[in-house]
Amino acid sequence: MNFIRLRGIGVSPGIGMGETCLSEKALFMAKKEFIPSSRVAAEVKRLKRAVVRTEQELLQWKRDVESRMGEEHVFVFDAHLLILKDPSLFAAVEKIIRQERVRAEWALTQVHRKYEDIFSSLQDDYFRQRKFDVSDVLARVYANLDTRKRRRPSDNQTKRMVLVAHDLLPSEAAVSFSQGNVLAVAMDMGGATSHTAILARSMNIPAVVGLHDVTHQVKNGDFVIVDGTDGEVLINPPPAVRKEFQSKKEKYDKYFKELKKTARLKSLTLDEVRFYPLANIELPEEVSLAFSLGAEGIGLFRSEFIYLQRESLPTEEDHFSVYSRLAKSAYPSPVYIRTVDIGGEKSLPQLKIEKEPNPALGLRAIRFSLRNRSLFKTQLRAILRASAWKNVRVLIPMITELEEIAEVKLLLEEVKQELEREKHKFDRQIPLGVMIEVPAAAAIADVLLKEVDYVSIGTNDLIQYYLAVDRSNEFVSYLYKPLHPSVLRLIKFIIETALREGKDVTICGEMAADPLSALVLLGSGLRKFSMNPIFIPKIKKTLRSVELRTLEKMVEEALTLRTAQEVEEHVIERVLAKHPRAFLMGQAL
Ligand code: PEP
Ligand code: MG
Repeated sequence: MNFIRLRGIGVSPGIGMGETCLSEKALFMAKKEFIPSSRVAAEVKRLKRAVVRTEQELLQWKRDVESRMGEEHVFVFDAHLLILKDPSLFAAVEKIIRQERVRAEWALTQVHRKYEDIFSSLQDDYFRQRKFDVSDVLARVYANLDTRKRRRPSDNQTKRMVLVAHDLLPSEAAVSFSQGNVLAVAMDMGGATSHTAILARSMNIPAVVGLHDVTHQVKNGDFVIVDGTDGEVLINPPPAVRKEFQSKKEKYDKYFKELKKTARLKSLTLDEVRFYPLANIELPEEVSLAFSLGAEGIGLFRSEFIYLQRESLPTEEDHFSVYSRLAKSAYPSPVYIRTVDIGGEKSLPQLKIEKEPNPALGLRAIRFSLRNRSLFKTQLRAILRASAWKNVRVLIPMITELEEIAEVKLLLEEVKQELEREKHKFDRQIPLGVMIEVPAAAAIADVLLKEVDYVSIGTNDLIQYYLAVDRSNEFVSYLYKPLHPSVLRLIKFIIETALREGKDVTICGEMAADPLSALVLLGSGLRKFSMNPIFIPKIKKTLRSVELRTLEKMVEEALTLRTAQEVEEHVIERVLAKHPRAFLMGQAL
């Protein structure tokens, strides 16, 4: 067996090693192989047997899902069974086998391509999305052509494996990961900010993406090491390399355990000032990892995931089932549910969204919701119903002006009255907050704060708009500086205004997860830091090793400085002089 070493992008730290399980989608890449005419009939028979096996499999999954999650979740399997029974689909495959005398795998691949082309050319978005269903069914039949015992994480609850895939839809990733038997993930496609990457990180599954052709390099059952910290994948390594990575894994796991111990310590500075680490998450399943890492609430629930996980629009019950699970698992800690931040380039698969010339400045977030009121109302109804737990807050993204808040309030009141009439339980006093992401909103923070119960500063977008630097454009990323004096002044203004108004203020952008910035933010009056849970131990350790008064003085001086560089040097110098332990954070995550 050849030893192969591949480099990709490490998107979720840690090391996972074990036997490979290739995701079925990755298998859809047959080469053209001819067969003698004497084998044609047998090949057609092999195809038919695979279709039967797929039907049995789908029926079995349908029964399993029905018993585990309820009847409302089985519609996908019904749709897939219908496709499987469509005679024209497999007649086309059979025709290719007979006419071209090729193996069934190649014939299926051809038909798959043809359907992909047809569906992709359709105008109607809903029908265009059907290609995923056809593709799924064909992939299952494809996998069933191979009668050797296949292994999938879902086949065997106890065997833990390394999942190798060409690409994983967020929904596929969610299903695989939530079963708890994925040791690590390696993917051909993907970037650091893809949802699958975020999910792997938040579920603490080591992952490397962007490997281009890992699915061609491994076979089912190969031994693979995934090093998510350094972005490497090693296929069939010799014993010496295996040993080296085993010890690296043990070191990392020990370090991670140490971090987790921090979770049990109090969130207090040296001079006993209380701060609150909160978590940014996208799935209710992430709550337990977040709390085990020291989160004291869910400071940002990005609800877009509910839309991205399904092919039809989520119903009120779909929303409600997610929010109530979330509220219940975090109870009594608070959960800030952000209404959908979609539009522009984050398009909804279920809706026709016009392409915009400048999506970042377009019909996003609350602008989109106010244009699509029935979707917005469905979401608000579900959030309100989940608020019966009394730990739910509603958070509105991308507010620009006061009028938007007035509209949201009207709608919220309308929904409350509806729910009252329908005798639903909910929290009439549910706190309403807005995200400060647009500089104009920051400048009138005093005005907005009078109308809401709290604000959450979304520094990812606020910095992007304030500094006019596209947050995902690598050509200008050198200008994206959270410690730019202008940003510090703006944030300090928002925090001070909130404190003066006696209202809550949180930061939920990546800035809260950066130790230097977190020191500045604490010194600026912030107490609630919401971030990807994986960073909580590090930030908690940093803030526990300083005194507030050092930071307050440091910030006062920093605000007179001219550049981000000067601020950075100043923070390090001042904090280091008083609290050298603030920078003793061990290996960076
Ligand atoms: C932000 O803009 O800081 C934020 C938290 O929202 P998102 O990253 O989801 O745009
Ligand atoms: Mg944002």
